[in-house]
Amino acid sequence: MLTPPQRLQRRLMLRLVPKMERWQGRMEATVPARPGVLRAGPTSPERVNIMARSAQVPEMHAPPGFPRVVPQLIGSLRGIKASIDEIDDNPAQPRTTIEGSELAVLEAFARSAGALSIGYATVPSRLVFKDMAVLYPNAVVLTMEMDKARIDTAPSNAAGLAVHETYNHLGQVSNKVARYLRELGFATQAGHPLNGFALYPPMAAAAHLGGRGMHGLLITPEMGPTVRIAAVFTSIENLPIPEGDNPHAWVSEFCDHCRLCARKCPVGAIYTEPIKHPDGRLTCADDGKCLPFFATHDGCTICVAVCPFNTAGYERLHRSVLASGHRKAVAEHTGGASAADV
Ligand code: SF4
Ligand code: SF4
Repeated sequence: MLTPPQRLQRRLMLRLVPKMERWQGRMEATVPARPGVLRAGPTSPERVNIMARSAQVPEMHAPPGFPRVVPQLIGSLRGIKASIDEIDDNPAQPRTTIEGSELAVLEAFARSAGALSIGYATVPSRLVFKDMAVLYPNAVVLTMEMDKARIDTAPSNAAGLAVHETYNHLGQVSNKVARYLRELGFATQAGHPLNGFALYPPMAAAAHLGGRGMHGLLITPEMGPTVRIAAVFTSIENLPIPEGDNPHAWVSEFCDHCRLCARKCPVGAIYTEPIKHPDGRLTCADDGKCLPFFATHDGCTICVAVCPFNTAGYERLHRSVLASGHRKAVAEHTGGASAADV
């Protein structure tokens, strides 16, 4: 039951969010309208617009810490606008090959701007969101860590603020990297981490920046699942895109034995067996169940906080798995039996 101030907040949200959605939609529609872009494929997923879907949840109102989130949210919206507006600054005849030395300087630049890890991936059209497009099928993929101490308090105002700070900061980094590449003569499109144009976790896994957890998030060697992802789509055709098996693929087998996020999710939004989405993707996370709780509990993030890749860390888990196998490693680091044993 909402209090009178909460009802007022809700009325304001219901007026503002559709306006913001239309504003963003008009901007984003300019990208598929450009010639030669990579459009969504027939099985591409629909993007979950978190704000719009959250506003549809009947109990949704601004959480107590919301005023502190507002500047971060405004920063993210500005970043999204800049990422689209600045496409017009691309050179008319962009370069398509980059020297190794230029790439090394680019990576150092991205790290100094705040990126945690940098990788490279080809983007298949099936990863471009429905009705959207990206300028090029080659991408620089960037991750940024969230403040682990605050994420560990999830669900809380502090954790929600940490998530939005990372969206905003990483969005700025992706715009900086896009501008840097433009100055070198390449054409680029920055992909903001909030409401991007393509599905980032599989792109990041293809770039070998981490493995995919049962909760659907990227699990990185540096910060486990406590990261956000962005991308910069670029005219560079000789990016060092990794070939062969992802060295982080062992994460999935660990998840099969762990399943802690599925047990701890308050609304059962993580399944132990993959579900088939209408677009054909197989995942264990059900956005439809997650979002109402996510929207009314400060961005939830419980599945990130409890994940042993967050609590124990990737390297410790990997050493345990190599020394004693998945079952024992899971038992050791989750304080219980492997899910395969129960
Ligand atoms: S909590 Fe366990 S099952 Fe879930 S993603 Fe983390 S390791 Fe995998
Ligand atoms: S964010 Fe919360 S509700 Fe959503 S899947 Fe994770 S634990 Fe479940």
